[in-house]
Amino acid sequence: MLNILDLNLFELKLWMKENGESAFRGKQIFDWIYKGIYNFNDMKNIPKNTTDKLNKNFYFSIPQVLRKLKSQKDDTYKFLFKYKDGNIIESVVMKYKHGNSICVSTQIGCKMGCKFCASTLDGIVRNLTCGEILGQILKAQDEIGEKISNVVLMGSGEPLDNFYNVVKFIKLINAKEGLNIGQRHITLSTCGIVPKIVELADKGLQITLAISLHASNDVMRKEIMPVAHKYNINELIDGCKYYINNTNRRITFEYALVKGVNDSDKNAEELSSMLKGILCHVNLIPVNEIKENNFKKSSLESIKKFSNILIKNGIETTIRREMGADINAACGQLRRSYIEGKNNIKEV
Ligand code: SAH
Repeated sequence: MLNILDLNLFELKLWMKENGESAFRGKQIFDWIYKGIYNFNDMKNIPKNTTDKLNKNFYFSIPQVLRKLKSQKDDTYKFLFKYKDGNIIESVVMKYKHGNSICVSTQIGCKMGCKFCASTLDGIVRNLTCGEILGQILKAQDEIGEKISNVVLMGSGEPLDNFYNVVKFIKLINAKEGLNIGQRHITLSTCGIVPKIVELADKGLQITLAISLHASNDVMRKEIMPVAHKYNINELIDGCKYYINNTNRRITFEYALVKGVNDSDKNAEELSSMLKGILCHVNLIPVNEIKENNFKKSSLESIKKFSNILIKNGIETTIRREMGADINAACGQLRRSYIEGKNNIKEV
């Protein structure tokens, strides 16, 4: 069986032609899918013999909702989704005045091993296909009853470790006949796999690239992010410059502040020199504390101080609002507590 959500319009039309149907039927089916119909039998203008054929060959990777949590503090929803093979992932929807954002997972688990991250503690199970990632958006739209207008690839998994599926996913959601989400409304976050950043730059997409930097020098970065052993900060910055030159897009550097680890004045000065002259923006994040490690959040006072040093040095900086803190909205935490059997979290 094939997952029909893995196919773009061209591939679906081709499949129809190769299987004795007219390509036009492919367009009709595509329209139904993106209208929210995930059952061939409900596609009214498709003849019975065609739906029979489709039922024999395709399934829809629309995940099942295991949990839907709504934050009491803000308009954030967290979904715990289950795929047909039993694997569980998380997606987060944030409702803003200017539209709805979704944070999707790109892998089941993650193999990058960042010390502060809950998604990577048990390693990777497998990649998600483009259709499975798309399924998170389609299901979330059904659940909130509204369209999604912004997508961030910042859930569990390393998007650039699942390059083919992630690029196809971006093209699928960007397609006019699909969800028609503008490339500038899509953000891909990576821990910094440099050759893949270069490959992405060569794709000529207009998406926003976010780099999980989290350290102001190599010694510190190696301690918290194993990927730093493979690519040092100089190489990473060169990759970023290549991306900026090719796309003219401003890069976001994410920096999670951990008390006593990376939040000193010296770190802020170091970071400022590292990023001087680069078309970028720094997003400071108070680290989300997880029980599996001892990383503690920096105080708001030291975050503000850190931010002021960057700004004084001419680096554009924002402090990320903490959304959905009461519903384990950060990467991987909810999945873990569910798998560990601690799913005593209140649902909406
Ligand atoms: N693998 C990709 C995308 C998934 S992680 C990446 O590394 O960018 C999404 C973001 O959440 C990254 O910036 C990651 O560093 C950050 N993150 C993970 N665990 C966190 C935590 N406990 N507190 C704050 N940010 C965290």
